[in-house]
Amino acid sequence: QANERESMYLVSEFANKYFQKILHKTDPGKAIGLSYFKERGFTLETINKFELGYCLDEWDAFTKEALAEGYKLEFLEKTGLSIVKGEKQFDRFKGRVMFPIHSMSGRVLGFGGRILSNDKKAAKYLNSPESEIYHKSKVLYGINYAKQAIAKEDNCFLVEGYTDVIQFHQTGIENVVSSSGTALTSEQIRLINRLTKNITVLFDGDAAGLRASLRGIDLILEQGMNVRICTFPEGEDPDSFARKNSEVELRDFLEENSKDFIRFKASLLMEEAKNDPVKKAGLIREIVQSISKIPDNIQQEVYLQECSRIMDISEEVLYSSLAQLTKKSD
Ligand code: ATP
Ligand code: MN
Ligand code: MN
Ligand code: MN
Repeated sequence: QANERESMYLVSEFANKYFQKILHKTDPGKAIGLSYFKERGFTLETINKFELGYCLDEWDAFTKEALAEGYKLEFLEKTGLSIVKGEKQFDRFKGRVMFPIHSMSGRVLGFGGRILSNDKKAAKYLNSPESEIYHKSKVLYGINYAKQAIAKEDNCFLVEGYTDVIQFHQTGIENVVSSSGTALTSEQIRLINRLTKNITVLFDGDAAGLRASLRGIDLILEQGMNVRICTFPEGEDPDSFARKNSEVELRDFLEENSKDFIRFKASLLMEEAKNDPVKKAGLIREIVQSISKIPDNIQQEVYLQECSRIMDISEEVLYSSLAQLTKKSD
């Protein structure tokens, strides 16, 4: 098993080198892939740092070269780099620009590949499938580049996408990671928890799924971490915003717009409930649910007091609602 994993790491490392070679040294790589990244505002230094690459728009160019170099089809298939159909083999990432995904210590575990056309029929991003070396619930994109900065700043920015991580680095903010579009997991949070107790979650300004994503944040509270939330203006995400602003402007924006999670959620829910008492009751239960996840009793109490003010409801009601919840989960 250890040997099998090692072979999978080796073929992934080869693929990473290969996709970079294609990007920088071939005509289609330069004309299509490299110019795509440059149009997005990435400098050559950034492209090299993040080891970005390109997979040719041919059926099996990568797979052929890997086989010719002596890598076994078994491991090309197990890593998902190649798709085997009967006698034929295809490149999974055909015609996509490539973002390698690394472990904390910098080993290549898998890839994200972005389509270039705005063809709505194909998925915008395609990722490596789950495998012996790539468990998507346990990886955070960018953690290998961010770990020192997270510890030093004693805070971690959590963004939605690959390009958000990359553009932040280029702008000068390095304590940033991404869960790459998947729902946040406890394992991912534990990776951050080893480095800092403070997370600031940055949401794209597209409102889509904001409420749903807020539920995942209870997992961060459960680990006794402090969570702040920052949303971007309508139509912007951390990447597009960072691109338009200087490091100082970006830092100021983050500072001014980050709000304590419980406070943020309470205000958001209140807006939603307006004057509807039935709805309000449900939302109070929702906020108490979040507060119940906080391991520290004193912190719980502070939040209950604050929510009582924000949501205009007596502390006693909140307390008994919390007591009920805690009793149920015992
Ligand atoms: P871009 O700026 O390149 O259009 P983005 O990172 O802003 O991409 P979002 O639509 O905000 O993309 O999605 C956030 C993240 O979710 C992406 O970076 C990617 O990891 C993941 N994702 C988006 N679309 C898909 C998809 N169709 N399939 C799988 N993962 C996806
Ligand atoms: Mn989005
Ligand atoms: Mn986005
Ligand atoms: Mn984007």
